[in-house]
Amino acid sequence: MVEILVSFKDKVICDHCGELVFRRNLKVENLDKYDLTSKKSYIESIIKIDDVSYEVAENWASHGMFELCKERTRCCPDCGNQLKTWRAKLCLSCGATFAPLLSSNS
Ligand SMILES: [Zn+2]
Ligand SMILES: [Zn+2]
Repeated sequence: MVEILVSFKDKVICDHCGELVFRRNLKVENLDKYDLTSKKSYIESIIKIDDVSYEVAENWASHGMFELCKERTRCCPDCGNQLKTWRAKLCLSCGATFAPLLSSNS
């Protein structure tokens, strides 16, 4: 139980895919130092600049700049129409309201 809480603390939910990703503290002064020519060079520059493991750098690259993660979708529990975002609390088609999803596990 404690382990789950600790790992959750270091991760945040990706707005795009709804998965837990490593928390990132982006420093503004480093923003133009990243190599964005390809995902591989971006990962390498993250490792060098932020001093993190390959796993973390790959995770950041996948869920940030390159948006390679799959967009999460959710359908209205009432009418079944696809919602605008997976975090929606309201269906624009039928007006139903419901609890928003919090993470990929819920
Ligand atoms: Zn993502
Ligand atoms: Zn609906």
